[in-house]
Amino acid sequence: MKNIAIIGSTGSIGTQTLDIVRKNEDLNVVALSAGSNVELLEKQAREFMPEIVGIWEEDKAKQLRIALSDVNIRVVSGMEGLVEIATIDSSEILVTAIVGMIGIRPTIEAINAGKDIALANKETLVTAGHIIMPLAKKQGVRILPVDSEHSAIFQCIHGETDNKISRLLITASGGPFRGKKKHELTDVSVEDALKHPNWAMGRKITIDSATLVNKGLEVIEAKWLFGIEPDNIQVVVQPQSIIHSMVEFEDGSVKAQLGTPDMKLPIQYALYYPERRFLPGERLDFAKMNGIIIDTPDRETFLGLDFAYNAIKAGGSMPTVFNAANEKAVALFLDKRIKFLKIYDLIDACMKAHNLIDNPNLQQILDTEQWVYNFIDEMNI
Ligand code: NDP
Repeated sequence: MKNIAIIGSTGSIGTQTLDIVRKNEDLNVVALSAGSNVELLEKQAREFMPEIVGIWEEDKAKQLRIALSDVNIRVVSGMEGLVEIATIDSSEILVTAIVGMIGIRPTIEAINAGKDIALANKETLVTAGHIIMPLAKKQGVRILPVDSEHSAIFQCIHGETDNKISRLLITASGGPFRGKKKHELTDVSVEDALKHPNWAMGRKITIDSATLVNKGLEVIEAKWLFGIEPDNIQVVVQPQSIIHSMVEFEDGSVKAQLGTPDMKLPIQYALYYPERRFLPGERLDFAKMNGIIIDTPDRETFLGLDFAYNAIKAGGSMPTVFNAANEKAVALFLDKRIKFLKIYDLIDACMKAHNLIDNPNLQQILDTEQWVYNFIDEMNI
């Protein structure tokens, strides 16, 4: 039996993780947490009967305690609750399916408590990769990627321990606005930006896919996970989302991982690594395919990638500024308070105004996040 804890269980990755648990009797959920969705969390708690559930706001926790008063499940809240869930004694692995930089502290605490991490929450590695990766090594825990591109790379390098990687090729779908030029993006709506051609994901990451910021975050994530310098990480557009990423070795051989666009595969691979299990679902039918399309990203229109490469080149606290500015800008766009292209303007303004901190510690990362939020708030948008 493998005991798992999930932070962000009510979201896209969280609910798909629970779908996998439903199909595998040797997985057992011991802790669950959400931001505010009390109704779904209560349903999940009744179905999986974990030891603890956590919800961010104390008011909602009170509501949940009343709702769950007939069962023996403890309800916790806030950051303390998240950390308690991340470090619960009975779990072996923590699935970080939470969105945003709020995932950093629970992830660090879970590593300190010796838990393996099935990592979906890319914001953690982007902002604190220099803390997370050495800490995981020191504690002897595994960081198992859930992001489909990183899982693809992870699958390609399995068994290649002593072989040198010369390049990572990260694939991008291009998002809903692929092929459009800047002037065509001035007035796009939130609804249009949320129409991803291949993947059904949470709202924030779907907007990040439309701006190509998501791919930028993934380049930074890949640098930390696989120890490859950004100059050797190339992004290619693969609009069908069939090739999930590729690895080129020093002899010129390229390995790719292919499959239908279904996040359950990388989630399940992380939970059972290095074992593969049966996963129901559609299979690729090569006989019906009209070819596999590969294209280059339009970096003049979609600025997300260049910001990311500039942020890693600057290093220190700059990836945090890139990430936090994007989080805030995307929230404003989703609230319909700014236009789509303004997301880029806000990231650019924050990165230009920031005084770089070298090798920031956790507190400095969180202070930088706050600085970014204040800087954008002062613009009175
Ligand atoms: P969703 O928005 O669908 O879900 C986010 C989850 O985080 C929800 O359970 C939400 O709870 C929870 N949450 C938000 N704030 C808090 C908080 N303060 N305390 C506790 N829980 C909180 O996001 P996704 O599942 O799409 O993405 C999750 C992460 O995985 C992101 O980092 C994303 O980049 C990454 N990822 C996602 C992929 C996907 O296919 N979706 C693919 C690869 C990576 P509530 O429902 O109550 O708001």
